[in-house]
Amino acid sequence: MNIKSSSSHKNQEPENSVLYIVGTPIGNLNDLSTRALNILKNVSLIACEDTRQTKKIMSRYEFSNNLISFNKYNSQNKIPKIVNDLNSGKSIALVSDAGMPSICDPGEDLVKNVRFCGISIVCIPGPCAAITALVSSGLPSSKFTFEGFLPKKKSEREKILIEISKNDKTTIIYESPHRLRRLLNELKIYCGGEREIEVSRELTKKFEEHIGNNIDNVIEFFREKEIIGEITMVIKGIKKGKDLKINKSDLKKELSELINAGLSLSAASKYIAKKSGLKKSEVYNLN
Ligand code: SAM
Repeated sequence: MNIKSSSSHKNQEPENSVLYIVGTPIGNLNDLSTRALNILKNVSLIACEDTRQTKKIMSRYEFSNNLISFNKYNSQNKIPKIVNDLNSGKSIALVSDAGMPSICDPGEDLVKNVRFCGISIVCIPGPCAAITALVSSGLPSSKFTFEGFLPKKKSEREKILIEISKNDKTTIIYESPHRLRRLLNELKIYCGGEREIEVSRELTKKFEEHIGNNIDNVIEFFREKEIIGEITMVIKGIKKGKDLKINKSDLKKELSELINAGLSLSAASKYIAKKSGLKKSEVYNLN
């Protein structure tokens, strides 16, 4: 499918019948681009996740525009209306509460539908917490896996944690502050306390901080602290091929550590078998 791009790349003014995907600040309101501002000021309407958040941008930059709410609860009802408005000539900007729409935020389905209808789309890129944390971490940043928020369901979560433990690329995760401790403890079990990580808190904001450099240190850092603010975590990948060499004495040590931590021999063997690719009986017999 050939989707035309818009000539607003040159004149920065919105065109009729174009959906603009606009990146907005992830904390620091000064991080709105000039091009994003021009589009937000001049489109026919702005589809936003929460009108209160978008009003903060309008107030900071002293403009107003028509807002409609577009969020995970109403998106399926709103998509046909937005497509109709675009077809009837309106220019529409899509924004989320923070960062890039569609990255763990609403937008994906709208963009898919708008493309399907052959309507022009222009993305005005802006900040994204994942990329901001990644490039600040000093960890390898040209190849990476973005996991977003880990699933809550135990089996799905375990599958991803095993993938992370074996990944040779950097992994980026979003996490809420009240679940951070649990995630760190899980990562210690799956990846080992020595694995290099960096937790970025409150990126671009007044109390921005970056805590590293391995899982054990980060657990220690937060031991006595209340964890607040927005969190993005970056985890270093393993050296390529490292997990292929299965060191049975390491596995034996890990097995007894898990048993000491309270797991049954069967549960500990099952977990290590999944992680190492060995049969459960082989791990069981290491004990
Ligand atoms: N669309 C956004 C983006 O482009 O980054 C992400 C939206 S997602 C619903 C919100 C999550 O992003 C937060 O729970 C946190 O994990 C991460 N995040 C957003 N702003 C952040 C910030 N200023 N510092 C650290 N992490 C942040």
